[in-house]
Amino acid sequence: MAERVVVVGAGFAGLETVKRLEKVLRPQLEDGSVEVVLVAPNDYMLYLPLLPQVAAGVITAQSVTVPLPRAVKRAHRLPGTVVGVDLEQKCCVVRKISGEEIDLPYDRLVLAPGSVTRQFDIPGLEEHALGMKNLAQAAYLRDHVLAQLELANAATDDAERAARCRFVVVGGGYAGTETAACLQLLCEAALKRFPRIDPGMVRWTLIDIAPRLMPELGKRLGEQALDILRRRGVEIKLETGVSEVTDESVTFSDGEVVPCRTLVWTAGVTSSPLVKNLGVDLVRGRLKVGADLQVEGHPGVFALGDSAAVPDLTQDDPEAICPPTAQHATRMATTAADNVVASLRGDALTQYKHHDLGLVVDLGGSQAVAHPLNLELKGAPAQVVTRGYHLFALPLMRTRARVVANWILHLFGGDDFIRIGFLADRKATVDEFEGTTSYLSRDEIRARAS
Ligand SMILES: Cc1cc2nc3c(=O)[nH]c(=O)nc-3n(C[C@H](O)[C@H](O)[C@H](O)COP(=O)(O)OP(=O)(O)OC[C@H]3O[C@@H](n4cnc5c(N)ncnc54)[C@H](O)[C@@H]3O)c2cc1C
Repeated sequence: MAERVVVVGAGFAGLETVKRLEKVLRPQLEDGSVEVVLVAPNDYMLYLPLLPQVAAGVITAQSVTVPLPRAVKRAHRLPGTVVGVDLEQKCCVVRKISGEEIDLPYDRLVLAPGSVTRQFDIPGLEEHALGMKNLAQAAYLRDHVLAQLELANAATDDAERAARCRFVVVGGGYAGTETAACLQLLCEAALKRFPRIDPGMVRWTLIDIAPRLMPELGKRLGEQALDILRRRGVEIKLETGVSEVTDESVTFSDGEVVPCRTLVWTAGVTSSPLVKNLGVDLVRGRLKVGADLQVEGHPGVFALGDSAAVPDLTQDDPEAICPPTAQHATRMATTAADNVVASLRGDALTQYKHHDLGLVVDLGGSQAVAHPLNLELKGAPAQVVTRGYHLFALPLMRTRARVVANWILHLFGGDDFIRIGFLADRKATVDEFEGTTSYLSRDEIRARAS
């Protein structure tokens, strides 16, 4: 019987793990002694760092996808979601995209289901916040923002018009900063279609509880990003949180009540509910693993990417864990795949150690800040590095070509500012879009086994 390796999730971590396994285990995959099964709900890997550009209409949704049928050659693909894992019985429960549930036993397991938006116990947040973690959310957000402008343009009541033109983004990390920056430019460009809106009325506010934007950029570059955004008219409120959200307003922790119809929530991520229901130790909401990416107490089970708390061996602090970035997820995949192979062969496992190469942040148009290899860049040079980095990091040549073609088209052709409308009648909560309530509890998993 073939030894089965199950990989959960086809994001940065999962896809790269499968590609590496296909390379290293090619003879075994061909003679049938090993089988690799990739379980993922979508037939593409999503290049998340370009999501704000999808929301802003700079790039089409399809362009930021890496089609799995092209990227995966020898592994078996199972379209579905792993809704539970029985670590004792070594079995995953997979809910196929048809809704049918099946058991999928494994010999080795690689968990790479990424993260979901971290929500807090704030009144109204669950019902009204819009997330920014997948294509549906990016498409929805774009439609929603354009709809607010359209409704504001048609409004007869000044207070309603002002509220619809007010947008709040929570979270000063790269996701929130890029989203606010790109969507503010979208609104600025779209205003020519909405003559009844006074440009001064459209206000974007980016807030964060921390005293600085993107602390990982360093003090100087973080301040430069802040400066660029403020000069463009984005209001930035630091050391401020949200205390209440309704369908007509957001209340900040300093007591300010902002009438608005849009709250984008990017204030951190937490690991997938799948990981939380495993019943094993977590560190800061992520699965506790060793530097060899193996889950403690479960040999042959590996976890990586956003869902795992991987010790950062480049830091002196023994408690340090790698930040949840695409850069780490991609590089961890090599270690994960090599350690799966080593464990199949009975060899020693290797440890993950990677020095951060820096960060790039696209602020829309020709503006960016970048911190590659300890260099500090801003403006056009940073934008060249930022876009070059994304092209380099995109896994397929055809995806790169599509992204470049979109950039050129947008540069010369602009945007038509139309709403796609597919998702207009969907309940737009983070839970709904990210499917966080569809998992089996520990008890349900145990009941299946007995
Ligand atoms: C807007 C935005 C901008 C970002 N910009 C940057 C950036 O500039 N630089 C950077 O380094 N990082 C950036 N990140 C972070 C980066 O995208 C993540 O750290 C990275 O995607 C993590 O990779 P992953 O493989 O762990 O998870 P993901 O890439 O999220 O992949 C997880 C995969 O698992 C699948 N999945 C989930 N649950 C299950 C399940 N139960 N069963 C089967 N499949 C499942 C999902 O469908 C998905 O395909 C950004 C993130 C966002 C949201």
